Amino acid sequence: MGSLRGGSGGEGRNEDGGKVGLPALEVALAFPQATPASLFPPAVSDYYQLDDLLTNEEKALRKKVRAISEKEIAPIMTEYWEKAEFPFHAIPKLATLGLAGSTTKGYGCPGLSLTASAVSIAEVARVDASCSTFILVHSSLAMSTIALCGSEAQKQKYLPSLAQFKTVGCWALTEPDYGSDASSLKTSATKVPGGWQLDGQKRWIGNSTFADVLVILARNADTKQLNGFIVKKGAPGLRATKIQNKIGLRMVQNGDILLNKVFVPEEDRLTGINSFQDISKVLAMSRIMVAWQPIGISMGVYDMCHRSEPHLSFNLQLSFYWSIPI
Ligand SMILES: Cc1cc2nc3c(=O)[nH]c(=O)nc-3n(C[C@H](O)[C@H](O)[C@H](O)COP(=O)(O)OP(=O)(O)OC[C@H]3O[C@@H](n4cnc5c(N)ncnc54)[C@H](O)[C@@H]3O)c2cc1C
Repeated sequence: MGSLRGGSGGEGRNEDGGKVGLPALEVALAFPQATPASLFPPAVSDYYQLDDLLTNEEKALRKKVRAISEKEIAPIMTEYWEKAEFPFHAIPKLATLGLAGSTTKGYGCPGLSLTASAVSIAEVARVDASCSTFILVHSSLAMSTIALCGSEAQKQKYLPSLAQFKTVGCWALTEPDYGSDASSLKTSATKVPGGWQLDGQKRWIGNSTFADVLVILARNADTKQLNGFIVKKGAPGLRATKIQNKIGLRMVQNGDILLNKVFVPEEDRLTGINSFQDISKVLAMSRIMVAWQPIGISMGVYDMCHRSEPHLSFNLQLSFYWSIPI
């Protein structure tokens, strides 16, 4: 088996010294009969006939996102999925998609229609679901919260560099004991001179191990209502640790966040978040985008299956098996 494995992590160890104890598998060597996912096949049809519903502008964007995803992004992702690491060198390529900031107008954001944004995310997910998740967390959660709930000064300060992926955002709502029931979260925000003090824990927060801008949702110790804060990377008392050995979306770096007396200046409190209702409008939009990911994944699976058409299994084409009702 040793010869089937790439040597980047060294014999018997993951690069991060992870518990699995084996370096990343080199797919092309391990499964020579498979076309590597890095050579993403062209689309065989517009299966859901989405193009019929799109404007010419939206169709052009879809085509552009598909081309960049197939040619520029797919070749990078298989290796990073295997290693469960983030490909930082892919960020400039992701920036060329022009999707960060999605429906937001101004501040360097593309001001896309909701449909264009959703179809584009599906196109990225068609090639790589981790990659679309990374964009979603950055754009539809972190950036949307600043765009919808931030002050004019906050939008001007943070959105332009996030829109170009010069900085990366994350968005922290979930806690170890509050996931589905997020509105009961316990992280506290206490008023102190000049700003706020945050104390608590967050879990599963995508991009959090390296994000420059962390949008943190916390409970106001006085009003008991939800408030939002922009915390910057490296803030004293802030710690984000990668959740190891995840099976799905392996390239996405999900973190456990510890907030120990983290000071946030008053200017970084998101003034538009004064209750859970205020964050619901962000969730309403991001959930639409999340729902388009499985559509994109299904499109990718369909195209990948067609790639195998000439391949024979038990002397029959794979398409023969598809026609057998389950
Ligand atoms: C890959 C990944 C990325 C994520 N990224 C982020 C992020 O960037 N930011 C962020 O804030 N969060 C993030 N999350 C967290 C995500 O939002 C939560 O995992 C989700 O809200 C579910 O919470 P939980 O994991 O605590 O599960 P739980 O709430 O414990 O639910 C476990 C199961 O119980 C079921 N269940 C829960 N309550 C009930 C009930 N009352 N009745 C019946 N069934 C119930 C649920 O449907 C589920 O099947 C991410 C999670 C994952 C896996």
